[in-house]
Amino acid sequence: MFANGNKSFTDISIYLFKNGFTDKYGRQLKIDRLKNALSNKFYIGIIYYGGEYYEGKHKLFISKTLFDQVQKQFKLRERARPNNKHHLSFLGLMKCGECKASITGEMKTKFYKGTQRKAEYIYYGCTKKLKNCLQKPIPEPELELQITKAISDVALPEEWADDWHKWLKGDELQEKQLKEENLQNLDEEIKALDQKLNFLLDSYLDNVIDADIYKKKKNELFEEKLRKQEEITKFQANGSGWLGPFREFIDSAMRCEKIARAKNTNEELAFFAKTVGSDFFLTDRQLFPAYNLGFAELYSGFSSPSLKTLALGKSHSERDTRIELASLPWEGSILPVY
Ligand SMILES: [Zn+2]
Repeated sequence: MFANGNKSFTDISIYLFKNGFTDKYGRQLKIDRLKNALSNKFYIGIIYYGGEYYEGKHKLFISKTLFDQVQKQFKLRERARPNNKHHLSFLGLMKCGECKASITGEMKTKFYKGTQRKAEYIYYGCTKKLKNCLQKPIPEPELELQITKAISDVALPEEWADDWHKWLKGDELQEKQLKEENLQNLDEEIKALDQKLNFLLDSYLDNVIDADIYKKKKNELFEEKLRKQEEITKFQANGSGWLGPFREFIDSAMRCEKIARAKNTNEELAFFAKTVGSDFFLTDRQLFPAYNLGFAELYSGFSSPSLKTLALGKSHSERDTRIELASLPWEGSILPVY
């Protein structure tokens, strides 16, 4: 339910309330409490009791995979801000370049006497909450053009898509082999830890070691086992970590061109802007984006050495270009776009 990503914390709380999940006073669960519950390792079968971790034998409330999906949704949701007040799509996107206060939107109604027509206009401007600020609001259509430009400025030409995907595929094959090896190693390491845990228990039962040492050592081994299990989950989800995000990045960067050319709703533009940038500053009705990693490299243009190699890729051998591609210091912080 939550892992699907289309339910808010409040929706979930209400849903649970309707289905008989309440706090001990019979009230709807507090959101923070719910967050704790959903982040609690107990629900994936791990119990921390009396200073020790136990692998619970209770029936799992949710699976580890679902648990992980929920955690991912959390991160997305905490980042997202509600922005549907009067359909002000660009709320939460920008800050004032002069005073760094947030930018808000406002609906203004104009009445035209001649034609007896009423028209509504949306303006975005500084909230001026932090200090006196001289910035003037910008009309929505003008802002829309600038956001579109900010997106198209970091677009990768779509003609590159075939080549890039071919190179990525090669890397993914290698990655897959590596992943299988890694998973096998981790599996063996976990087996070894289980053996140690068994041996430790035997030693304790045979009175070779005392309770304190047993407890301390057991916790250490168990923590290590947890870490290995988490590594396995991580590997299963994204391999060693960079290819998935990198593919998403490339797909996003190529979609930028399409987005910039197509007719989009402002919600789509806002969503895409948040994919490519972390902050957008508005100064004198001009938008200045702070691009996310990867997109920032694209914006700094084809003058940067690594991207120059990419841009000239077709004249180099594929091998060289592919290596250059793989060496971009990419760490994913972009959201997948579907
Ligand atoms: Zn301001």
